[in-house]
Amino acid sequence: MTFTADLHVHSTASDGELSPSEVVAKAASLGIAAIALTDHDTVDGQQEAQLAGIQYGVQVIAGIELSAEYKQNEVHVLGYFIQPNQGSLKSKLEQLQQSRHKRALEMVQKLQSLGINLNWNQVKKYLQGSVVGRPHIARALVDIGSVRSVQEAFELYLKKGRPAYVPRYKLSPQEAIAMIHHSKGAAVMAHPGQLPDLSYLDELLQLDWQGIEVFHPDHNHETILNLQQIAKKHNLVATGGSDYHGSGRKYHNLGAYKVSKDVVETLKMRCQF
Ligand code: AMP
Ligand code: ZN
Ligand code: FE
Ligand code: FE
Repeated sequence: MTFTADLHVHSTASDGELSPSEVVAKAASLGIAAIALTDHDTVDGQQEAQLAGIQYGVQVIAGIELSAEYKQNEVHVLGYFIQPNQGSLKSKLEQLQQSRHKRALEMVQKLQSLGINLNWNQVKKYLQGSVVGRPHIARALVDIGSVRSVQEAFELYLKKGRPAYVPRYKLSPQEAIAMIHHSKGAAVMAHPGQLPDLSYLDELLQLDWQGIEVFHPDHNHETILNLQQIAKKHNLVATGGSDYHGSGRKYHNLGAYKVSKDVVETLKMRCQF
């Protein structure tokens, strides 16, 4: 079977639905040779995923997805082949996790002030790791019958501009890239197609990226072609992955977006920090 790698996968260590080992088992059952576990703002799932990788015969690449902000746009920064115990990565991540926690409490309070009978214990039921995100609150809202779906929770309450939205502390893209480099990893710009405005892309591309995520469920055919050109022009590794979070999202199935072995190897060679 040809080698394929899904380089963008979330687990219960952040806001995914499957545990790190369940994700790896699922990858094995789908014949996926390698996955990168790229949880938001944490490396807590890495050890479990590595062990499961050995058990199931799946290569597990240690990754992360950091949320940064540039000129009021969310820019997600993926890290690959990171060494989680290097430098100050873990202590910086703890700070991010604490600020996420505080923000989630504020969002629950906002929901309460809107008359929604949601308490923190109901959100906590969905929390298995140390990173809380809006998807956890959305699942709790579904649970108490206040909305029909996670999507609806975002549309009515949780997305930017909606009444329970609270902004999260965000790193600058430079800080996020530096954190990844300090932990010996390669930095990749996540799903640039999510940027509301591609005019910032040129400025962002001046930073020290090793790759750019080209293949992603939020990118249409035209965006993919466009990003392939950009990757070529800037000598960036063109990566891709499904951004799998669980069964909830139709186009984000595990393995729906994959790359070949040479992409993984080139990315690894770019980790020279
Ligand atoms: P947070 O990190 O708390 O700001 O939440 C961001 C996460 O929420 C993203 O990584 C997605 O997993 C998820 N998300 C963002 N927007 C939506 C949406 N409209 N529908 C469902 N999930 C979403
Ligand atoms: Zn997520
Ligand atoms: Fe993202
Ligand atoms: Fe993601």
